[in-house]
Amino acid sequence: MQKSCFNKFLCTVLGPPGAGKGTLSLRLRDLYGIMSMSPGEEIRRIVSSGQGDLSVQLKEAISMGHLVSDQLVDEIVRNRLTELLLSAEGIILDGYPRTVEQAKTFLSFLKEKVKARVFVFVIKADRNLLEKRMSNRLICKNLGCQATYSKLSDSERVSQNICERCDGELAVRLDDNPAGIKNRLDKYEDMEQQLVNFYEQNGIEVLRFNGDEPSVDALADTFSKIVISAESVC
Ligand SMILES: [Zn+2]
Repeated sequence: MQKSCFNKFLCTVLGPPGAGKGTLSLRLRDLYGIMSMSPGEEIRRIVSSGQGDLSVQLKEAISMGHLVSDQLVDEIVRNRLTELLLSAEGIILDGYPRTVEQAKTFLSFLKEKVKARVFVFVIKADRNLLEKRMSNRLICKNLGCQATYSKLSDSERVSQNICERCDGELAVRLDDNPAGIKNRLDKYEDMEQQLVNFYEQNGIEVLRFNGDEPSVDALADTFSKIVISAESVC
């Protein structure tokens, strides 16, 4: 493992849909104040701010059903990271980079601009378990929240389709059906393999964790220990 004495870290989280990446990010924010960002969240933030050319450009693309281009996503992530790293000790990136092309651009940006320990946190999970989790998943419809829950949860509010974080309404994602789930898991596995190969070839630390356990707190605990142990070796 590469040891470094940077006092900041940047972690990109890889994990199949249903492995709890979003929930982990929220938990780390609540428990340890670790900042997280995802391009989707950032795009929604810019659009809802309604300020600047970028907001107009994004709103237009989204309303016309266009995907935001990779170049634009790269730019949005770079700008936000630069801003966040001024004050944050560490940042978790959720859902970025998604392709080897993006990872290349991202690493060259980091080399040039960012003094931080960079590592990749890969959450591994059993495929049957993921399929089961995804088919029972509920997501908060409030775009600013998007917390996820399970239909199997014993929370009374969740059973009434109410978000525990923001009181928003919970719903099933449109593509959380058997064909959609299989397709997303297949695509994800392919992407993960390519990205992990790329990171390892480029000397980036890749840490793998078992996400089969239902407890997101156990994952959050493991994550915080990695960050703390990295600080203590300096
Ligand atoms: Zn919510």
